[in-house]
Amino acid sequence: MSIKQLDTETINKIAAGEIIISPINCIKELIENSIDAKATQIDLTIQNNGFKIIKIQDNGSGISKENFPLLCKRFTTSKIQTFNDLQRIETFGFRGEALSSICNISHLKIITKTEEEPFAYECEFDSNGNVISEKPIAGNTGTLFIINDLFYNVPSRLKSLTVKDELKKIIDCVSKYAINNKGISFSLKRIEDNKMLYNCKEDSSINDRIRLLINSSINKFLLDFECEEDLELGLVSCKGVITNLSYSNELNGNKKSNSYGTNAPIFFINNRLIDCEALKKALLSTYNSFLPKTASRPFIYLSLFIKPENVDVNVHPTKKEVFFINENEIIENICDSLREILQKQDVSRTFKTHT
Ligand code: ADP
Ligand code: MG
Repeated sequence: MSIKQLDTETINKIAAGEIIISPINCIKELIENSIDAKATQIDLTIQNNGFKIIKIQDNGSGISKENFPLLCKRFTTSKIQTFNDLQRIETFGFRGEALSSICNISHLKIITKTEEEPFAYECEFDSNGNVISEKPIAGNTGTLFIINDLFYNVPSRLKSLTVKDELKKIIDCVSKYAINNKGISFSLKRIEDNKMLYNCKEDSSINDRIRLLINSSINKFLLDFECEEDLELGLVSCKGVITNLSYSNELNGNKKSNSYGTNAPIFFINNRLIDCEALKKALLSTYNSFLPKTASRPFIYLSLFIKPENVDVNVHPTKKEVFFINENEIIENICDSLREILQKQDVSRTFKTHT
């Protein structure tokens, strides 16, 4: 058999499948784009758990009309210019692949307005990212993305995804970004029944945002967490919010800590939402040394800042993992701080039960 170069359309569709695996990846990319555009308000609406419609409205910078022809093309970005820029990246985006991928596997329309332009523009794209229609309309500064019929042309993907699981993941994702982005309002609404699934105001506190995700009784168990910087290791800061030992005890045996079963630790590294199995294991085992085996999981939210030159963000297609130097030592430092906080708790708990 002879080797042949695939045509661009096929290449793009294969690549898109790696970046947009399910509606949640699409939502994450869009939220990150809105934050990159300096939005202070992000409103999402979904139908059929994102499979039928995903709409996201922000009040960010907007996109100027001249950028429409390149907006949804592959590897087109306003965020970096050379590979070296990746070393000091401050935006979420850098590959210019999200919008082209979304375009490839859905019907995409945007309405956007910049501060400078007198009108908003409504613009539709075909699956190759070409502009198919464009017209001026009334609108406020910011951008609305409307994604219809995700995976309409990838039937195998549609079959393999269960619509039910997706909702949990969407609520989870929106709330995590809300928790880590104080100063931005977030809302998530379901079109079918007009149900508000998550809603926090611009000025609501981190604890309020956590309460909305977990439940209202969590408030009194929340503790601020901080681990000292260690610039030699590259750890610039590590702050967060965790639950105390009574929280876990109070919910003894109840592993499901909220109605959506969200209880995995939340980690952000340099503002990126990431999975870090090693950090998760270490923290949970630190907690476990203070808690009975049957205790339910604590709530943990940590935001780490690591020297950007020590972090490689380009290791995973959905950017859900990052590499960072001195990982083990940094994790040890964080666990030491956690142990200290829990020890103090433990002492006061013992004291209470004895009096
Ligand atoms: P990346 O984020 O990696 O640059 P994307 O495909 O996600 O790639 O977006 C392409 C470009 O579109 C961005 O670089 C940005 O200039 C613009 N853009 C996307 N979403 C928004 C938005 N909500 N507001 C303003 N500009 C946006
Ligand atoms: Mg992006």
